[in-house]
Amino acid sequence: MKAEPVADLHTHTSYSDSKETPESLLQRARNAGLHTIAVTDHDTVTGLEESFAAAAHSGIEVVPGVELSCRHKSVEVHILGLWIDPSDTVLVEIIRKIEQSRFERAQKMVERLRGLGATIDFCDVESVAGRGVIGRPHVAQALVDRGRVESFHSAFRLYIGREGPAYVRKISITASEAIRAVHASGGLAVMAHPLVGGPQREHVRDIAAMGLDALEVDHPKLTTDESQWLREYAAARGLAVSGGSDWHGEGWSEGEMGDYGVSDTELRELFTRLPVNQTMQGGKNV
Ligand code: AMP
Ligand code: FE
Ligand code: FE
Ligand code: ZN
Repeated sequence: MKAEPVADLHTHTSYSDSKETPESLLQRARNAGLHTIAVTDHDTVTGLEESFAAAAHSGIEVVPGVELSCRHKSVEVHILGLWIDPSDTVLVEIIRKIEQSRFERAQKMVERLRGLGATIDFCDVESVAGRGVIGRPHVAQALVDRGRVESFHSAFRLYIGREGPAYVRKISITASEAIRAVHASGGLAVMAHPLVGGPQREHVRDIAAMGLDALEVDHPKLTTDESQWLREYAAARGLAVSGGSDWHGEGWSEGEMGDYGVSDTELRELFTRLPVNQTMQGGKNV
């Protein structure tokens, strides 16, 4: 039986592909009984400023984070950076590249959908995304809004899931580049949802050897067995563990906030792995 989570170290805002504003995300975290959350938007750090402003009056500690889309041996993997410096130039440059490729890739997916008879306009996708970095959830919602699919989830099943006919891969960086960028910005590099949607145990082993700090062992898409293997592997390799809900808002998420995350002890362990001279947000509680 795992300990009650006190911190959710994987969440998204409307600055990437979530329905939650930083304000509503923090409200939800408070209602879920958490004291800390990491804001880890896909390939952007633009939501962090507003998240800190919202944190100042919510009583919730915000850990500055990011979830970088990357690739290892042609498999898509996601690397979370926790306690990063969002102004770091290496990180900012990497993010700029990925953001641009996401925009072009969404245009390609719209073209493919048109060819498949599920016509939507790129401006439909842009209007769902608003200020957010464009991702597949925005395409899925545009398909729902235009009546091309019955539900958000069927958009993935029929068209834009990894095996779908309108799916287009992102141009992304390698896992080792992502880990280096996270470290350059003073953060901890965590492999997000390992063993989900592509990466196998061998990939986890490879990436662990690249200087990773922790594995995400608690996540709604991980089975109990996968979680257990990851915990054991992290312990054997001397890696810390992390966890989070990967919350994207009502209807766009798999699990509830408050059900996934790390215990106080696990949070402290992550904290001890930060570079000593780092000035940290999120440190007051531990
Ligand atoms: P992207 O980063 O643009 O490839 O989009 C990936 C995001 O789409 C994930 O972070 C989830 O938010 C969402 N997603 C991926 N697969 C599914 C699915 N089968 N059902 C619902 N959401 C999904
Ligand atoms: Fe997402
Ligand atoms: Fe992810
Ligand atoms: Zn995520």
